[in-house]
Amino acid sequence: MAATLFEKVWNLHSVRRLANGQTQLYVGLHLVHEVTSPQAFEELDHRGWKVRAPARTFATVDHIVPTRQQTRPFMDLMAESMTDVLERNCRAHGIPLFDLSSGLQGIVHVIGPELGLTQPGMTITCGDSHTSTHGAFGALAFGIGTSQVRDVLASQTLAMLPMKVRRIEVNGDLGPGVYAKDVILTIIGRLGVQGGTGFAYEYAGDTIARMSMDERMTICNMSIEGGARAGYVNPDDTTFEYLRGRRFAPQGEAFDRACAWWRTLASDADAKWDDVVHIDASMIAPTVTWGINPGQSVPVTDRLPRPDDVPAAERVGITEALDFMGFEPGQAMAGTRVDVAFIGSCTNARLSDLREAARVVEGHRVAPHVRALVVPGPQAVARAAESEGLDTIFREAGFEWRLAGCSMCLAMNPDRLEGREVCASSSNRNFKGRQGSPTGRTLLMSPAMVAAAAVAGEVVDVRGLVQA
Ligand code: SF4
Repeated sequence: MAATLFEKVWNLHSVRRLANGQTQLYVGLHLVHEVTSPQAFEELDHRGWKVRAPARTFATVDHIVPTRQQTRPFMDLMAESMTDVLERNCRAHGIPLFDLSSGLQGIVHVIGPELGLTQPGMTITCGDSHTSTHGAFGALAFGIGTSQVRDVLASQTLAMLPMKVRRIEVNGDLGPGVYAKDVILTIIGRLGVQGGTGFAYEYAGDTIARMSMDERMTICNMSIEGGARAGYVNPDDTTFEYLRGRRFAPQGEAFDRACAWWRTLASDADAKWDDVVHIDASMIAPTVTWGINPGQSVPVTDRLPRPDDVPAAERVGITEALDFMGFEPGQAMAGTRVDVAFIGSCTNARLSDLREAARVVEGHRVAPHVRALVVPGPQAVARAAESEGLDTIFREAGFEWRLAGCSMCLAMNPDRLEGREVCASSSNRNFKGRQGSPTGRTLLMSPAMVAAAAVAGEVVDVRGLVQA
């Protein structure tokens, strides 16, 4: 019978149907980090339980680690303590840990794919909302809370309600200076931050098919910001070529056999989706958020909404966002002054992101009033970027070149906004207080747009620079 990838992978991992309607799913890969795991391990220890499948569990440190200087012990006692606790838990339970000395440490959603741990057809969990990133490989990947981290550690299974599948078909060519980040911000802007509630998003169409794995990861990463519990792309040759030869991917003949099986997991052409949405890629412009959720965005050439011009149901939210941001109804997006430029996070801190941003920055200087930083997602990307001289380009332009970590995506470390600063950010959330200051303001955009804003000192249309 024809089926979507979601149905195939879900059914393959279904252990049993529970009385409350949930399905107990087997988890193929569990990724662990320092922030959402201590309490989960503590509960296991309290009950005398062991981790059920340490060989399917991998850990790293990313959220809380400082990015300016990573000599142990950290100056921040909380960061030192959480890192130490994770190290002890991993030793006690036999879990591989990619720590700072491993050369493989980095943001959990960047290193999983890079190491070849993330593979098509898997079910993947991690105690971080943006676990949806791994769906780019044709996996079902779910962000989970601390109590679910405990459940997965103890049983290697997760109880979940089944969900519907919305196919989002993106077709057409993206113009120069328009990136995957603009596509996903446009999708969320169109469908709303609650639009995906109860759904998994299947991204398809010729635009997605032409995208690299890095770009597909950017798209899937922000599924959760559109309310979808998961997002995925059907695996294809691009997926397989990315995985070939990676450390934890099958090798030799086993890889060829895996590819043949992975190919069968893609949604069948005559599968039934619960909803289908069409997006014209040629109409997408560089997109910037102006508000306090990722759905509040406009093309950089547009003006902000006026509460009087929108349906009554949206008026309160728009008014609240404009008030918080200190923006005028109807003001132009371009020309908004920025104080900080942040290129990093699991949405956009991969090598291709840094290359695009460096292309914009090369030969320019960061505006004198802007504090600008580049934080590669993992150590491996930092090394690769340095070998290409990207760090030199950024440094010469006036950016700080930092060490790997989550950094200013969530500011659980010293990288934070101060006061009312406005940050042009390549991260994924613009909620109030997300970047450390309760009154700080975040404008989400692509890394190339952040680079352009850093140089101009204000929001500008990167297409002018890219075409030049
Ligand atoms: S970069 Fe941000 S969203 Fe990604 S794992 Fe770190 S804190 Fe979570």
